[in-house]
Amino acid sequence: MLYDVLVIGLGAVGSAALSSAARRGARCVGLDRFDPPHVLGSSHGETRITREATAEGPAYVPLVRRSNALWRDLEAWSGETLLLRTGALIVGDERADDLDFAARTIRVAQQFDVRHEQLSARDVARRFPAFTLSEHEHAYFEPHAGALLPERCIAAHLRRARADGAEIRANTPALTLEAAGDRVRVRTAGETLEAASVVLSAGAWTSDLLGEAFAERARVYRQVLCWFEPSRPDVFDAAHAPVFIWQHGEGDAHFYGFPEVTRGGGVKVATEQLSVTSTPDTVRRDVRPDEATDLFERHLAGRVNALSPRLLRAETCLYTATPDGGFLVDAAPFSPRVTVVSACSGHGFKHSPAVGEAAALRALGEPPAVNLAAFEWSARPSYAP
Ligand SMILES: Cc1cc2nc3c(=O)[nH]c(=O)nc-3n(C[C@H](O)[C@H](O)[C@H](O)COP(=O)(O)OP(=O)(O)OC[C@H]3O[C@@H](n4cnc5c(N)ncnc54)[C@H](O)[C@@H]3O)c2cc1C
Repeated sequence: MLYDVLVIGLGAVGSAALSSAARRGARCVGLDRFDPPHVLGSSHGETRITREATAEGPAYVPLVRRSNALWRDLEAWSGETLLLRTGALIVGDERADDLDFAARTIRVAQQFDVRHEQLSARDVARRFPAFTLSEHEHAYFEPHAGALLPERCIAAHLRRARADGAEIRANTPALTLEAAGDRVRVRTAGETLEAASVVLSAGAWTSDLLGEAFAERARVYRQVLCWFEPSRPDVFDAAHAPVFIWQHGEGDAHFYGFPEVTRGGGVKVATEQLSVTSTPDTVRRDVRPDEATDLFERHLAGRVNALSPRLLRAETCLYTATPDGGFLVDAAPFSPRVTVVSACSGHGFKHSPAVGEAAALRALGEPPAVNLAAFEWSARPSYAP
C-alpha cells in the first residue's frame, strides 16, 4: 500500500501533523519509537507556556495565532481543557537593553497589537503576591496567555487522527528513510512502508535518520524541571497565579514556572542550559539533589515567595536547539518529499499545531496557512566551525 503521508515521530509536532493530514482525507500512518505521550522526548512534564507576543521574533506571531485557533478547535473536538488561561507574567530589568526578554516581548506585543499590561514592581506585589520584584524590575502581563497541558494535547491529537482514519504504530522505530523515485521508503524492524511524502518529526532523534545535515544545525541539551512545595498554596493556584518567565541578569540568569496545576503537586520551575550537549540515548535521566538546590538558591530565593525549598518531584527533558533558537521546517536535503520539522529549540510546544499543520500541507502539496520562509534550512546558522 502506498500511503499519502507517513509521519515519523508522534510527539508534539508529529501528532499534530498526523491529525491534520488525516482530517484532510489523506491515507496516513504514524510511527513512534515509544508509545506517546511518553517521558523520554521533549514534550512531557505537565505544562508548557504559551504566549502571543513571542520575543523569539515576529515570524512566530502568525504561527502562535494559528496554533491558538487550532488548540481551541481541538478542545472543542475532545471536550477537554488543553490550555489553562492563567495569563503570563514576564519580568525583566527596566534598565536593560534589547537583550532583555521582557523588553523584546513588549516590542512584539506593540507591533502586533497583542493585549497586554506593563506592571511596576508594586503592581506585581499587589496583584500576584507570590512574586517580589526588585526596584529596577518591571513586568509584562499578557492576560490571554497560559499553560498548555502537553500530554493531554498529544493524546487528543492522536485520538483525533485515529478517528479520522490514520493508522498509528507505537513502539515502532523507523530505522531507515530513503527517497525512491516518486515515493519514500521507511524501514521498521518488521516491514518496509512506502509513502508519497514523509513528515520527519523525530525531535531529539532526528539526526539518527538525517545524519550530519541535521546535526550541523541542531543539538540536544538536557534540561531539569523541579516541582517545589508552596508554603502558601493559595497564591499559587491556577486561578490566582500566572505562568512566569523571569530574567534577572545576563546570560543564563533566567527561569520560568507555572502555578500549581494539580493540588498538592507542587509549583513547577525550571531554568535552561545550552552549554552541555547530550544525546537522547545516553543522557542522564535523573536529577541530582544539588541541581534542585542550585535552582532554588540561585534563581527562586528572594523572588518567588511562598515557595519552600522542599522538592516534591524532578524530571529531565530534552531541547533540540539550533544556534539561533529558530525553527526548522523545510524539505530534507536529499528529497523534497521529506519534510523535516523538529528543531523546536525550547519554545516549540505552543506552535506545534500550526507547525504540524504546515508540515501536513507541505506533504500534501497544498499551500501553507502561515509563511514558513523564516524556518528554511538557509535561514538557520550552522554549529559547524
Ligand atoms: C524542559 C522543556 C521545557 C519547555 N518549555 C516550553 C514552553 O514552556 N513552551 C513551549 O512552547 N515550548 C516549550 N518547550 C519546547 C517544546 O516542548 C518542544 O519544542 C516540543 O515539545 C518538541 O516537540 P517534537 O514533536 O519536536 O518532539 P517530541 O515531542 O520529543 O517528539 C519526537 C517523537 O519522535 C519519536 N521518535 C524519535 N525517533 C523516532 C524514530 N526513528 N521512529 C519513530 N519515532 C521516533 C519519539 O519517540 C518522540 O515521540 C520545552 C521543552 C523542554 C524540553
